[in-house]
Amino acid sequence: MAFNLEMYPIIYMAQYNPETKNWDEKWIEKDRVSLKELQAMSEEERANVLANRNNLNLPGVSYTSQYGYGCFEGMKAFPTKDGGVSIFRPDRNAARFANSMKGLYCPAFPEEMYIKASAEFIRRNAELGYIPEYEKSWEEDNYATAKAVYMRPFMNTEGAIGVGCSQAPYVIICATTVSSYFKGGNTKAITTKRIRATPNGTGCIKCASNYVISALAKKEAENAGYMEVVYLDADDHKYLQEGSSCNIFFVLKDNTLVTPELGDTILPGITRASVLELAKQQGIKTEERKISIEEVMENVKECFVTGTAAGITPIESITHNGVEAVFNNREPGEVGTKLQYLLKGGQYGSVKDVNNWNYKVL
Ligand SMILES: *Cc1c(COP(=O)(O)O)cnc(C)c1O
Repeated sequence: MAFNLEMYPIIYMAQYNPETKNWDEKWIEKDRVSLKELQAMSEEERANVLANRNNLNLPGVSYTSQYGYGCFEGMKAFPTKDGGVSIFRPDRNAARFANSMKGLYCPAFPEEMYIKASAEFIRRNAELGYIPEYEKSWEEDNYATAKAVYMRPFMNTEGAIGVGCSQAPYVIICATTVSSYFKGGNTKAITTKRIRATPNGTGCIKCASNYVISALAKKEAENAGYMEVVYLDADDHKYLQEGSSCNIFFVLKDNTLVTPELGDTILPGITRASVLELAKQQGIKTEERKISIEEVMENVKECFVTGTAAGITPIESITHNGVEAVFNNREPGEVGTKLQYLLKGGQYGSVKDVNNWNYKVL
């Protein structure tokens, strides 16, 4: 995806006060440069404005900067066909964020506060023209090139140098506009010997340190000519886990949709849960269970990965121990395409949001 660091000017920040047991909230207005004004600037001026927006004045030496002790969320707001803006299932992100913080033994950020701040964040930045407007032309390629707001709430600790757990964490919400995920090129995946998450570890929370292994494994896969990496389990190195930072789905030859069951080592993706729900509503048989690499190599006709950033991304093949299993002649499959249509259509409001997943903020 076209991720970039063109952050919006208005940023939310809260910090937990262990004495009063309250979260002290503030809005940081880095500047009041509208999107139009930003785009009209010289490259140098623009770079200065953007660098200032990313200067959050957080402690330089902290549990987060030293030990990767932190957690984050990835959430999207979509301009909708009726001219509004909706955040997709923010209640789920709020709950997962609180759960991640509990998992790190630090005060959990209240879910109602998370939702309220997220909505207010969109409204404040909309005033300066940062929230993209709906474009009819996006419908032509089923939103493959559509824009959305990528929101990144995260936790950063207070200043600290020894190894320990945070008692006065900060919560920050920032965002950038993103466009289509596809970079073009192949969508081949390869298994890795690296282990993303271990039983009794932190794989089931969205914890910062988890992504070091992901970054390394993904780079190795890319160097070898693949787009994506897939992990096998830590115990047997046999069962599928996830993609580099997304959940994974398989359509078996008998049309059953299978995804690894949740547990210690799988991140409970909100896209994953939504895809399962949509599939059931379409009468597709779904299974959440262990799926071995042998079964994938022999009995799968379609594969895709899911995540807020990725949406539903088809995988053309998986290579394991030098053998490539090709899915659906390297073309996006029927099931993934249908689910993508329902998911994206619901998010952008061209398909009825039957599950009430869109939280209207504008
Ligand atoms: C964030 C994430 C996902 C996808 O979760 P969504 O809620 O669908 O965005 C999957 N796997 C990992 C490891 C993740 O960090």
